[in-house]
Amino acid sequence: MNPGPEKAGIFAYICYMKCRVTIVFAVFSLLVVFPAFSQEVNPLIPSTKHSYVRCLDMEKYELFLEKQDPGRKARRDAAMKQMAKWTELHGLKRTDSVASYTIPIVFHVLWNSATPAEKISLAQLKRQIEVLNRDYNRINADTIDTPGPFKPAATSFNISFCLAQTDPNGKPTTGVVYKQTSTTSFSYSNNAAKLPYLGGDTIWDPNKYLNIWICNLSGGLLGYSEFPTKPLDNTFGSVIFYEAVGDSGYLPLPAYNLGRTITHEIGHLLDLHHPWGDDGGLCPGSGGTDDGCADTPPEGNNLNDGYGQGWGPTFGCPPFPYTDNCSTTSPGIMFENYMEYSNDSCMNLFTKDQYTIASAALSGPLAILVTSTACTAPSSIQEYIFNASVNVYPNPSPGKFNVAVSLSDPSHLNIEVISVLGQTIQTLNSDNANGKTYSLDLSAQPEGLYFVKISNTSFSIVKKIMVSR
Ligand SMILES: [Zn+2]
Repeated sequence: MNPGPEKAGIFAYICYMKCRVTIVFAVFSLLVVFPAFSQEVNPLIPSTKHSYVRCLDMEKYELFLEKQDPGRKARRDAAMKQMAKWTELHGLKRTDSVASYTIPIVFHVLWNSATPAEKISLAQLKRQIEVLNRDYNRINADTIDTPGPFKPAATSFNISFCLAQTDPNGKPTTGVVYKQTSTTSFSYSNNAAKLPYLGGDTIWDPNKYLNIWICNLSGGLLGYSEFPTKPLDNTFGSVIFYEAVGDSGYLPLPAYNLGRTITHEIGHLLDLHHPWGDDGGLCPGSGGTDDGCADTPPEGNNLNDGYGQGWGPTFGCPPFPYTDNCSTTSPGIMFENYMEYSNDSCMNLFTKDQYTIASAALSGPLAILVTSTACTAPSSIQEYIFNASVNVYPNPSPGKFNVAVSLSDPSHLNIEVISVLGQTIQTLNSDNANGKTYSLDLSAQPEGLYFVKISNTSFSIVKKIMVSR
């Protein structure tokens, strides 16, 4: 069984006896970074009555990462600045054309031969993709469980996920890397799952794939993620405990058996924060913070009633309405939000303000990811034109972009720019296309995703272009 947070103290003591110098330095570092938590064994996973905890304290994890990598803060600030600018221009209007995104996922499954269950089946991983596509498009069956007062805030994110079908070398893939490892458990503190020399697996280009590592995560932790940076870091992704994947298969934890740990963790990759603000149970306006969303009620949950643990999130599945120190009257706090810690069966919504934040991320630091074509298999038609290439750049683009064409022989060519709603925006025809570069301009069009179809009688290629200003 998983050791649970309480046993972490034993490990820390053993480590102390073995490597006193290291631990003294580590404790010193924690005192500098987290003075308020210096008495705790693990400041990023505060103590809980429960054996498992959904996620890390994300705000402190960000500080932890910035402490380890001093350059990260500037990249994180650049991403936040870009997202804030987008939100200022678009966030409150909500009248922009709604972009439809398809994001390719690659699962890195790290399994140790001593624990065969770690080798999650492809079928179970496909079920996880289906969970994501239901939850992120609000077609999950339990939308009927969203309480009436919260229904007006609930929304689809209009995002689809796929298992990647083309790997970084342009070859067909299942979207799953199974890597046998000698490592028996993985910690968030050294990001081992992402590091081959610690038994992990190397990231696929985060500009083209959403990377999710599945492994025996230690400490009773079900998952952790990184907020986006600009540019994206080569560790960008989520790490998930192997017993909390999908909604069918090996799922021994009844509270976490519907695949919503990954729904939650991808929320962080889209820059969503925990509704209680990771502030230790305080309320906004009284020294606390929140998630930046007006439509998720203020939450502190400083209760210690089994649902609250005294430091913010909600565990289990309380009866609705559930009030706390920050939302004292009905409808209380939104423990049904996917960014909570409550049981999978109790979660059923994202809100419109969360959608605005995610849209800012997808139009900002993640804009290049949504142009990825890795959801499409390497096609036979592309093999047929193996000695041809089409390059669309810059991508993302503020509006003006180029289509560079190299063909095996001089040929007539059609270029068509199509919106996500299927409308043809621009067309261009050319003879003797080989070696030419064509300029197109979407400056007058709304931001968002467009398709560029390049074709003639022999072939057809569709590229994505993201317009972001
Ligand atoms: Zn979280």
